[in-house]
Amino acid sequence: MEYERLINASGLTGGHLHRRSDDARPKRIAYIQCVGARDVRSSHPYCCSVCCMYATKDAMLAYMHHDDTENIIFYTDLKAFGRGFDEYIKRGAAEYGITYLRARPGEVTEDPETKNLYVWYDDTESGGVKSMEVDMVVLSTAFVPPPGIRNLAETLGVHMDDYEFFKASDDLLAPMDTSVPGIYIAGACTRPMDVTDAVTQGGGAADRAAQAVKEFTGKKTSAKAGSGR
Ligand SMILES: Cc1cc2nc3c(=O)[nH]c(=O)nc-3n(C[C@H](O)[C@H](O)[C@H](O)COP(=O)(O)OP(=O)(O)OC[C@H]3O[C@@H](n4cnc5c(N)ncnc54)[C@H](O)[C@@H]3O)c2cc1C
Ligand code: SF4
Repeated sequence: MEYERLINASGLTGGHLHRRSDDARPKRIAYIQCVGARDVRSSHPYCCSVCCMYATKDAMLAYMHHDDTENIIFYTDLKAFGRGFDEYIKRGAAEYGITYLRARPGEVTEDPETKNLYVWYDDTESGGVKSMEVDMVVLSTAFVPPPGIRNLAETLGVHMDDYEFFKASDDLLAPMDTSVPGIYIAGACTRPMDVTDAVTQGGGAADRAAQAVKEFTGKKTSAKAGSGR
């Protein structure tokens, strides 16, 4: 998120990508995937589903700003499950020169003089511990619910899952309904998802709310008719 603000025209740097340590323009950027996610030892053992794609987008953006930027994505698995996603990643490699490196980084150290960073990683393809010098490291961190979400759930009486996402009353048959009638859920409060899925769910939740209002007003109208008033 911090990187997205740095490269965004409406962000702090007006869209000019500078590293914060010494203001230098990064020419070699490492993106480390699955940070704090997909780790059964952590409280976020799930896949966040969006970071493989947004890291590719972020690397493309760096290249679009300066086409001498080298972008290396350190990944565990590439989750490109949506329509056109796999093609997007292939385009990242072919047209934007992104290097996808299957590896497990364990440590990042800084050279105090140059401010450059060293990514120390286990190369899971060819084996062995290696290091790479880069100008900037971007972490794709776990997608987690915001602090205080448990208080909100308790106030509303809505059930949560083990990871503090709101739980649907039935994932298959009623994915926008909660344990409380009249309260509907959509988007990233239910699980990590991209904007397209969040918007689709939002439409579904709005439709469920409209149905509830219609049923309620229908009942009131028939009650009025029944009472002869
Ligand atoms: C770094 C990064 C890059 C991404 N890039 C892409 C991309 O390129 N394309 C894409 O499709 N998706 C991308 N995503 C995913 C995208 O951000 C989500 O799909 C999207 O934001 C989900 O929308 P939402 O409205 O469900 O949730 P959010 O955007 O998270 O909105 C929830 C809102 O609720 C507010 N809120 C939280 N708690 C409370 C409370 N207790 N009371 C009141 N308000 C509260 C929050 O402040 C927030 O404004 C990216 C995600 C990250 C982290
Ligand atoms: S979407 Fe990609 S980077 Fe994110 S947790 Fe899943 S595999 Fe890791």
